[in-house]
Amino acid sequence: MKFELSDQQQEWQAEVRDFLRHHLTDAVRAEVIAWHGHGHGPRTRDFYKAVADRNWTALTWPASCGGMERGAIDQFILAEEFEYAGAPRVEMTWTSLAPLLIRYGTDANRALWLEDIRSGDILFALGYSESEAGTDLASLRTTARRDGDEWVIDGEKTWNTGAHFATHEWLAVRTNAEARRHRGISLIVVPIGAPGVQTYPILTWSGVRTSRVVFTNVRVPADNLVGEVDRGWAYITGALDFERATIGGHVGSLRRLVDGLVQYAGEQKRDGRLLRDDPAVRSGLAELALDVELAGLMGLEVADAIDRGQIPTLPGTVQKVFTTELRTKVADVGMRLLGQTALLSEAEPDAPLGGFLEWTYRWAPVQRFGGGTNEVMRDIIAQRGLGLPRAARGQGR
Ligand SMILES: Cc1cc2nc3c(=O)[nH]c(=O)nc-3n(C[C@H](O)[C@H](O)[C@H](O)COP(=O)(O)OP(=O)(O)OC[C@H]3O[C@@H](n4cnc5c(N)ncnc54)[C@H](O)[C@@H]3O)c2cc1C
Repeated sequence: MKFELSDQQQEWQAEVRDFLRHHLTDAVRAEVIAWHGHGHGPRTRDFYKAVADRNWTALTWPASCGGMERGAIDQFILAEEFEYAGAPRVEMTWTSLAPLLIRYGTDANRALWLEDIRSGDILFALGYSESEAGTDLASLRTTARRDGDEWVIDGEKTWNTGAHFATHEWLAVRTNAEARRHRGISLIVVPIGAPGVQTYPILTWSGVRTSRVVFTNVRVPADNLVGEVDRGWAYITGALDFERATIGGHVGSLRRLVDGLVQYAGEQKRDGRLLRDDPAVRSGLAELALDVELAGLMGLEVADAIDRGQIPTLPGTVQKVFTTELRTKVADVGMRLLGQTALLSEAEPDAPLGGFLEWTYRWAPVQRFGGGTNEVMRDIIAQRGLGLPRAARGQGR
């Protein structure tokens, strides 16, 4: 077994780096920091346009859908390089939701949305969670009823991140009250500008804005139903497998943090000596570097599974837990290393690591439950990986 990227993959990595040298200006980077979770500023939109011009929004899609037919490992490399460089993120709409439409959507679904996703004109917000349906998502209550050629939607979603700047909701709704809980759920795409959709901000500790979104008598055409009616649970769990793999695959930002900490330890002195001369600092940083390397290998393993046609439930779940717990660990070690200056945020010109560590400290917890909590992920690993018995009711997402 040879643990290195192939020649083609190395060329791809070089191509991505070259793209970033040309398009990722300091102004784009600054905007990413200033707008964390608050949408896409004008420079980010220009950057995404350049990504779309290269067709990298459709990197892994089949050629018949306008895609480049590249593998998941190439996708992983793209995301890792973008993150390491501090570029706008590779959107989940391109990497998780569009592939689902390609696989399970109707011809009408594909004709309606794929081209606009590819060009960057459509961006989805994930409308799954409700106040009484988080882990136990199957208890969701937002309904869609058929009325002639339309679906009529009523209900309320919470923690709907991106709803204030996305163009469409990727909405989980109950379409059949009679069926068993998991069997009566569908996915419907709803334009966020449709009459009856109201968005209310929820500001979180990380600074990221998420939303409560209320749907009152919202009407969308029948073709906005994704795939088949009442089959939504299968689509959602399929998309969540890829979402977890994506969340777990955020290795580039971890690598950037650890490299930043190593540089900091080589420049800053405490009690008259460089931090890096302290054996405890050295071993702490070495351990983080080791873990980041492992996370990267897990990411490649998951991507390889996808390239071999598998749905990466187990390796994706393992990777999600490992990488998101690692983010907290990096933030904790970094906080101790930086001391009081660690509290300076990205808004402060003198913040070490440009304040990225401080932000990571606040953001890391979200990753531990986003896309399904790590407690539940451990249950999945116990069941499917170790063959241990299923937990009590409400195994959830
Ligand atoms: C900032 C932020 C952004 C978010 N963005 C989105 C988004 O864009 N779209 C979206 O749909 N959702 C989003 N979410 C919701 C997120 O997915 C949920 O918070 C998550 O799934 C957990 O659900 P919950 O908050 O209802 O917690 P609960 O399900 O109530 O869980 C509470 C605790 O109980 C534990 N628990 C529950 N059931 C079990 C079980 N069976 N076994 C073991 N432990 C269990 C959990 O692990 C957790 O620790 C976001 C949340 C936040 C805070």
